[in-house]
Amino acid sequence: MSFLACLLRVTALAPRVRHLSLLVFALSAPALHAATPATVFDDIKARATPDELYRLLFALPKGGDLHHHGGGAVPMEFVVDYYTNPARNRGQKYYIRTSVVPTADAGAAALPDVLYHVVREGAWKTFSPSIRAQWKPVTDLTSAEKAAWISSLKLDQPGEARDEFFEKTWWRLGPIFGDIELAPELLVENMKTFGREGVRYLEMQTIPAGYTDRDGRPIPADEVYRIFRERLAQPDALATGVTVRFQIVIIRFLPRAEEAIRGAFAFIDAHRDLFVGVNMAGREDNGKGQAARFTSVFREMQAKYPRIPLAIHAGESDEANANIRDTLLLGADRIGHGVNILKDPATYLLLRNNRYLVEINLVSNRLLEYVTDPAQHPFPVLLRTGVPVCLNTDDRGMWDSNFTDEYFTAVKNYNLSWAETISLARASLVHSFLDEATKARLLADYDKAVAAYEARFLTPEWRTAAAAVTPVVSNYGKKAFNLTAPVNLGDLR
Ligand SMILES: [Zn+2]
Repeated sequence: MSFLACLLRVTALAPRVRHLSLLVFALSAPALHAATPATVFDDIKARATPDELYRLLFALPKGGDLHHHGGGAVPMEFVVDYYTNPARNRGQKYYIRTSVVPTADAGAAALPDVLYHVVREGAWKTFSPSIRAQWKPVTDLTSAEKAAWISSLKLDQPGEARDEFFEKTWWRLGPIFGDIELAPELLVENMKTFGREGVRYLEMQTIPAGYTDRDGRPIPADEVYRIFRERLAQPDALATGVTVRFQIVIIRFLPRAEEAIRGAFAFIDAHRDLFVGVNMAGREDNGKGQAARFTSVFREMQAKYPRIPLAIHAGESDEANANIRDTLLLGADRIGHGVNILKDPATYLLLRNNRYLVEINLVSNRLLEYVTDPAQHPFPVLLRTGVPVCLNTDDRGMWDSNFTDEYFTAVKNYNLSWAETISLARASLVHSFLDEATKARLLADYDKAVAAYEARFLTPEWRTAAAAVTPVVSNYGKKAFNLTAPVNLGDLR
């Protein structure tokens, strides 16, 4: 029966009931006619199951992942597959450390005491016999050892947080992300997974001077540029729909960081079509890497080269400090993390209604325990008080998560409106370091994708539309959000 027929029948009843029904009609009619993307999104937040919300957010068009570390961003199952599958690694052999026994041998001091540290066969052969005995070929691991290895590459066990991450996990990644044959392949595989989630831009942090050939010989950075450029122009890379640019990342606490900054500016200036900005990373509780150390070298670079944008990690710490302010003084355009920003009120006020963007990393901040209670995260305050923000994955391979998890966390914890949700991706593209023409193209493409999404998913029939989406679910998402969909991010390779 149509709504009108029903109403006519009701109005034939007693006058009191009729008045009541007319009142109900008067109240409900505007709502019936006012189903906008914003109201449907509110309805979804109120009524969707976790699986339904996840499907809808997986299908959501996303913008750029601006805070994205090359090695840490790849699903760790892909990493292990590259090490153990000769078809993937082109016949290279690797050894992995399966015991850590103190030895007085020369050379032992140069190695970190880290289980599941992987090296090339050539490097392993240079070790003394007693050190060599602590390693075995990666292809000889038992299935239990292999599972422990994969787990060791992720923060997936109770008690694992920033010490594990900064001091161990990075060692375990081993040489493949600096291998000029394999790193571009891993990037394209990762672009495919990001593309499936609707991500359209990656601004990856890397070190062009850090690549080697399979024998460990350094590759000139110009050659690294040429190889990545050619790989990204291949049909399978283009088919991902994901545009890639690189930032050069400086490890801030190293003794020669100033020299690395000078090299980064010179290199970017000569390769601006692919390399677009400078970053600085490294744990901020290491006092040797404080932003103020670099003021003079950035001034020197700014006197020498036409503008090169800066996105710098700052405020990824528990305590209040002046690191974000000092980082803005270096000339930073974007702040990576900014977790402690609200503890520095003057700098927070400076960011409001200004042009600096804060790159938010919700899953990272939780797993590294910079923010243990979502209510303490500055993200919603920044979002709602005029500080540009976007969502990012940081090292999602180590979190065992994906981009959808960032959106799910944000929508669930902070009750994002539809306008707020789409503002995040827009901000990521607006504040990207892309050239203006490419930026305009990606923004137009994003707006078109949002319109198509609204037409397909943000209607009163959203539940039916959601059922047709098959998301790629991460282990993090499955655990954190109680999802029942199969876990298959690591199986995509
Ligand atoms: Zn980072």
